[in-house]
Amino acid sequence: LKSIVAEHAHLPAQTQDGQRVSLHLNLGLDIHQDYLRQLNIDGVGLYRSEIPFMMREQLPTEDEQVEMYKEVLDYFPDQPVIMRTLDVGGDKPLPYLKLQEDNPFLGWRGIRLTLDHPEIFLVQIRAMLRASIGRSNLRILLPMITSVSEVEEAARLLKQAYFEVAEEQGCAVGVNLFQPQLGVMIEVPAAIYQLPMLASKVDFFSVGSNDLTQYLLAVDRNNRRVASLYDAYHPAVLASLDEIARRCEELGKPVSVCGELAGDPGGALLLVAMGYRQLSMNSYNVDRVRWILRNVRSSTLQVMLAKALQARRPEQVRSMIAEKMESMG
Ligand code: PEP
Ligand code: MG
Repeated sequence: LKSIVAEHAHLPAQTQDGQRVSLHLNLGLDIHQDYLRQLNIDGVGLYRSEIPFMMREQLPTEDEQVEMYKEVLDYFPDQPVIMRTLDVGGDKPLPYLKLQEDNPFLGWRGIRLTLDHPEIFLVQIRAMLRASIGRSNLRILLPMITSVSEVEEAARLLKQAYFEVAEEQGCAVGVNLFQPQLGVMIEVPAAIYQLPMLASKVDFFSVGSNDLTQYLLAVDRNNRRVASLYDAYHPAVLASLDEIARRCEELGKPVSVCGELAGDPGGALLLVAMGYRQLSMNSYNVDRVRWILRNVRSSTLQVMLAKALQARRPEQVRSMIAEKMESMG
């Protein structure tokens, strides 16, 4: 099977009837691995900027961050690179920022923490902007957005950083320093109910199905006792993903999925059936997802989705997908 999958690696990700899907990469520290250059992808859908922060003993300086981000932007010079601002807290501790909380996943995480520490946030976005001088592929993504006011505040700081950097570096605005597109993660259920308002503030959405699953089901994504309850195939999760796709289509906003579900071949099929046209995943899933998409027709996907949305239990969805995949060989 591996060799059949590899034979398709250079071909576009599209269904048999020609529905094109763009495949993007989730990236953390793996930038130094050479095989990434060979991957047939359309860009970086999620650069988890907190990962290099977690590997250090102290906050990287602005200059250090500029070098880190330049390296990533240069690695994919002709493709969009979506850099997420620091998403620490919850399951992602920083060794030099002690947090003691009873409910870390409901606590000081992601954008909440960085807006309370604008000096950290400003240094990071200034570094991203400085790294993007002379390039045009930077996009910025905000994690853990719950309220429109968080986006407004982050956008204000981004604007401030943009004009500061442009002036300090003597950049011609819009010529060698572009204002990056701004997006928000849809991963807190509250965001689903504010899509129109959020859409008026940002250029794109990215669905974090990992946290969305955790918060919709009220199941800690890392607690082994309840691991069997944490399931992106839960009917409520599938229904909400379906609804997000539909609403984004109505709003005319680009939306991608960057949680683990997008890199799961069965999950990818359901997401494409819902209308998602951009999926972002770990490197080792890219060719598998491409292969499975190339072996299915849109009409089949619609039948699968209708069945999945009617299922009462995740196992029903799983066995329906497994059956379908078996018939595909
Ligand atoms: C997610 O929540 O789905 C996501 C992509 O972000 P992370 O896994 O880094 O929280
Ligand atoms: Mg998340």
